[in-house]
Amino acid sequence: MLNVRDLHVRYGRSVAALHGVDLAVPDDGVLAVLGSNGAGKSTLLRTISGTLKLHRGVVTRGEVRLGETRIDKLDPASIVRLGVVGVPEGRQIFTRMSVDENLRAGGISTSAEQRVKARKRVHELFPVLAERGRQRAGLLSGGEQQMLAIGRALMSAPQVLLLDEPSLGLAPKVVEQISGIIREIHAQGTSVVLVEQNAVMALNVADHAVVLEVGRVALAGKSDELSRSEDVQRLYLGGH
Ligand code: ATP
Repeated sequence: MLNVRDLHVRYGRSVAALHGVDLAVPDDGVLAVLGSNGAGKSTLLRTISGTLKLHRGVVTRGEVRLGETRIDKLDPASIVRLGVVGVPEGRQIFTRMSVDENLRAGGISTSAEQRVKARKRVHELFPVLAERGRQRAGLLSGGEQQMLAIGRALMSAPQVLLLDEPSLGLAPKVVEQISGIIREIHAQGTSVVLVEQNAVMALNVADHAVVLEVGRVALAGKSDELSRSEDVQRLYLGGH
């Protein structure tokens, strides 16, 4: 179980990005994090993955725990080793390297035996990555690149996968495909934190959701309950 408690984050002196965020990601659950631009979604993911410092952010209060282990003071590599792996917004795959080389890079800190197992899983989830293994990653379509980014993260067999806007810029059909894959990843026992602007997609995929507003959790609950909430309908689902 990943737990975030009373999390306060600042960038420099002037920007308070999170003010007391609490949330829990149950084992093998999918938690959606919704919110408009600037609400603090990326900041939350950066804090969990340990990359906040790279963006000059600091945790001023609160904590993040994976089970009993406090991870908010650890560096990104240690957090990956503990099983929390992020897929950053904009995918950031190595475009000049082949698809296979990208996957290999994702499994670098695991044993050879684990790598073989993880690779099999990734190829089953994304057959296109097996078919196009030797191709340069930069030649893949946007949707395939997103699949590669998720596949690369799965190569380290994470307990918790952090996805930052996986639907960004993708056609509806591809978004549907990615949604199915996220469900499958979850069914295989990996927890997922899904940050999305696409609330329809996120609430369809996730069991639970939180809505961030200017650095605070404004709403939290089961996805189907939140889908019916008037505020969520009005603000995020295009209702009136
Ligand atoms: P978006 O969907 O636009 O990425 P978000 O919900 O992910 O939005 P954050 O990127 O976490 O929001 O930003 C939260 C607040 O922190 C915003 O006010 C933003 O301007 C500010 N912020 C984010 N990154 C930095 C940074 N590196 N330095 C200073 N302020 C930042």
